[in-house]
This record gives sequence, structure tokens and C-alpha cells, in this order.
Amino acid sequence: MEYENKTIRINEVNIEPGNSAQISLNWYQLPTKAVIEIPIYVFRSKNPGPTLLIQAGMHGDETNGIEIVRRLITKEEVRNPLCGSVVAIPVINTFAFLYGTRDLPDGKDLNRCFPGSKNGSLGSRIAYDLTNEIIPQIDLGLDFHTGGKQINNYPQLRCTFEDGRSLELAKQFAPTYIINAPFRDQSYRKEAAKNGKPILVFEGGESSRFHYQYINEGVNGCLRLMKYLKMVDVDVRENSYSLVIKSSWVRARSSGMFHCTKTNGVPITKGEVIGEITDPFGEQMEKITAPQNGFIIAINTHPVINQGDALMHIGVEKNSD
Ligand SMILES: [Zn+2]
Repeated sequence: MEYENKTIRINEVNIEPGNSAQISLNWYQLPTKAVIEIPIYVFRSKNPGPTLLIQAGMHGDETNGIEIVRRLITKEEVRNPLCGSVVAIPVINTFAFLYGTRDLPDGKDLNRCFPGSKNGSLGSRIAYDLTNEIIPQIDLGLDFHTGGKQINNYPQLRCTFEDGRSLELAKQFAPTYIINAPFRDQSYRKEAAKNGKPILVFEGGESSRFHYQYINEGVNGCLRLMKYLKMVDVDVRENSYSLVIKSSWVRARSSGMFHCTKTNGVPITKGEVIGEITDPFGEQMEKITAPQNGFIIAINTHPVINQGDALMHIGVEKNSD
């Protein structure tokens, strides 16, 4: 793919090839009149190449992703790409980050506010700025997330397999699992795709918890992708991946205390015991068996569960029955 050496322009600031800058997406006011900014870091090579967006904190409590971007932008290789440009947004949802919550103060999920509007609510405004200031500037992006509260996602990259370019980029990132994920309405990934910009969504660990092994997976995957794009020349170990064509949750048939007897990320065989639900009184124990061959790609880490709760997310490999 041929790339041109264009000026990057974000929030009325021009950044030319060979330059770096720290800028703000926009300014947003708190009820106290204090102004909140969303910091953006741009690192540009003089040599033409892709403009890669790396971003995290779309959900304010997804700290693994924020740490992944922080580690990446402290690396000399990332700050001085051999070609192209890096646009990094370590904490998109600064409001939710401050409150330690997933969503904005009004309860809105920022990742369901796209394409947003200029005079809308906070989420709509941030979405509007990302849609208009960032998407036109980039060629591709990585959006780092985690599972929700007490849902531990094994490191995985989500993209639509129908889009061959996204799938190829995901293979170069090489997380353990690449998951076929249809677009969700009003999400950033869908809005970017409408403009021909593939964004791959990384998920690793659970919210409000650091998981250092998964953080490393995210950092290494990004470096593998940047190496493939010729943006960096670093030693990064290779990783094998599995393509997960579909996934479904095993749910609790009864309420009680849930013990997963398998490790996150492992393959499982139809019919084998993968967990158990006990009552707190030592009277009952229900075994949970694998509904099909596949992999455990997420685990509910909450010890006490109710009927119908999601327990384990099972991924099924492409070409598997
Ligand atoms: Zn998220």
C-alpha cells in the first residue's frame, strides 16, 4: 500500500512529517468550571507510511488498556517510527477514568455514542470529535479494552472476518485468539469502518485490575503489527493464534458459588467438566460440562453467582464442528 506524507491536523494544530506533538482532542467543561482535556500524542517519521492510532480508556475503568498504551508510548521505537505516524490516545474517557467508572457521568457508554454530535451530551461531543478529528487522519487503529467488572477476557483481538484487511492485520498482531465480531451500532469501530479505516479491538483481563501478562500480550501484539507495517524494527517473539468464528456463554443453571476448574485460555473438549456450582452449605454441587469443543476465552471471576449468570465464554474454532 502506498502512503503519502500528508500534514496531520488535529484540533487546528498541524503536525508535519518528522515532528512530534502533544495536543488535546478538545476541551470539555466540568460542573465546577474546571476544564478537562483529552491528551493526544503524535509521533511522526519523515518517511511516508501508515498512520496508526493506538487508543485506550474508551471505558474509564479498563486500566489494562491504558497501561498498554502508556508502555508503548514510552518506547523509543514507538516515539521515533521508521516510517509513518503514531497517534496515541492513552485515556479517551478522562471523565470516567477520574470517577473509576466504565461509563460517563450520565450513564452513557461512550462506545455507543458514534458518530456523535457537536452540541450533544458529553459522550456525543467526544464521539463527534473522535469521528471528525481522528478518523480522517488515520489509516488503521488499535483500540484497547478489557472485560467488564469481574469478567476476565483472555487476550483476544476482535474484528470482522468478512473484512480481509482487518483479518490480515489481526494475524500480524497475533494475539492467542482472533474473534469474529460483527459491528455494533454506534460504536467507534463501526464508524471508522464506514470510512474505510479498520480498527481492531483488543480485550485483555478485567476492569480495574492490572494483569501484567495480558498487558505484555497487548504491547507485543502492537509491536508485531508495527513491525509488519515497517514502522519499527524490534525483536518481539512470535505467537501462534487461533481463529474463533463464533462464541457463546455458558450460563448458570442454578445460583450458588461458582468455581471454574479450568484455566482461562485453555482448549476444552465437549462433555468434560469445566466448573462447578456449590451451595454455601455443603449440600449440593452441580458440575458444569463443556457444551462443545472450543476454548475458554473469558471467565466470570465473581465467586457468588445467580441463575442465568454468564460463567464462561466459549470460543469455537474456524473449521471446527
Ligand atoms: Zn471497553
